Amino acid sequence: MHTNLSANIYQTGDSSVFKLDTTLIEKPKAQQVLLKQTAIGVNYIDTYFRSGLYPIDLPATLGDEAVGTIEQVGEGVTEFSVGQRVAYSAAKGAYTQYRLIDINEIVPVPDGIDDTAIATSLLRGMTVEYLFCRLHTLTPDDTILIHAAAGGVGQIACQWARSIGATVIGTVGSNEKAQLAKNIGCDYVINYREQNFVKAVDDITHGQKVDVVYDGVGKETFMQSLDCLRVRGLMVSFGNASGKPDPFDVLELSKKGSLFLTRPTLYHYTRNRQEILESAARYLNMLERGHINIQVGPSFALTDVAKAHDYLEQRTTIGSPVLIP
Ligand code: NDP
Repeated sequence: MHTNLSANIYQTGDSSVFKLDTTLIEKPKAQQVLLKQTAIGVNYIDTYFRSGLYPIDLPATLGDEAVGTIEQVGEGVTEFSVGQRVAYSAAKGAYTQYRLIDINEIVPVPDGIDDTAIATSLLRGMTVEYLFCRLHTLTPDDTILIHAAAGGVGQIACQWARSIGATVIGTVGSNEKAQLAKNIGCDYVINYREQNFVKAVDDITHGQKVDVVYDGVGKETFMQSLDCLRVRGLMVSFGNASGKPDPFDVLELSKKGSLFLTRPTLYHYTRNRQEILESAARYLNMLERGHINIQVGPSFALTDVAKAHDYLEQRTTIGSPVLIP
């Protein structure tokens, strides 16, 4: 048995709700492994569960993704072995030093990629995988708008779209982020704190507008994003960084050009073992081939998890934060 430190919430609220608990961790059961975690990702969705925007049973250990080394395997585990480095991206309960986890949740990790790069990007990378390869197959003919292009998901999306050859317009909230967005593959960058992005998209595309909008910002951009789409364009509203979008009249979709609207989540695109393995493999392959580079943000100790949440919510993020247990 190991002594284990974890960061838990007993109520929802701001980042002060985290409590640190020390418990004993059991041996793995059948089809489980015991992971010694080395790096834990902090995602925007963690803040939604912490704040109460998304419902969660309490108490809860937040966090969906981490990288670690297998310390023990349970009965019947043949696919993985002790000492192997693995990761997971959609299994709540990551804010902890050690973790018992079902083998169906974990994927092997290729050598040569740093733990922190994987822990800060597997969930975001698999998100971009389903957005570009399955929800809609992105092609070189597509012109797309990516909001928060310099953010965690945004950076991966820009680089992936560049490797496909799509034309990418990115929005960012500062001039520093604008430079980064240019460097990672945006053909055009709009600082949407200074410019009206609907007008800027219209100017850039000479009135043609874009085929797809990828909007993870939510409340502050949702309605205007619809105005950036061509007739029969696709609106992908995949996040709420500024709050959830206001309810709206579906007739707007008709008025604005018979638009398509989807509100997807990674969970529904990783519904079984095969989807998890294929999505992770496709993303990790992009990393290995150098099509995507991950700029890791600041490291925080697990005991400083509140600071990591504050960092993400302050809107200054350039690289995604990582927790070191
Ligand atoms: P980011 O690193 O992208 O951070 C969010 C960014 O949103 C900020 O850096 C900021 O960029 C922008 N933003 C705009 N308005 C606000 C605001 N009011 N408050 C805070 N940020 C704001 O985060 P992630 O990479 O973790 O996630 C990006 C989005 O993707 C989130 O909405 C997340 O929920 C979503 N997501 C969805 C998934 C899905 O399957 N549906 C899976 C994974 C993530 P700027 O300053 O440039 O505007």
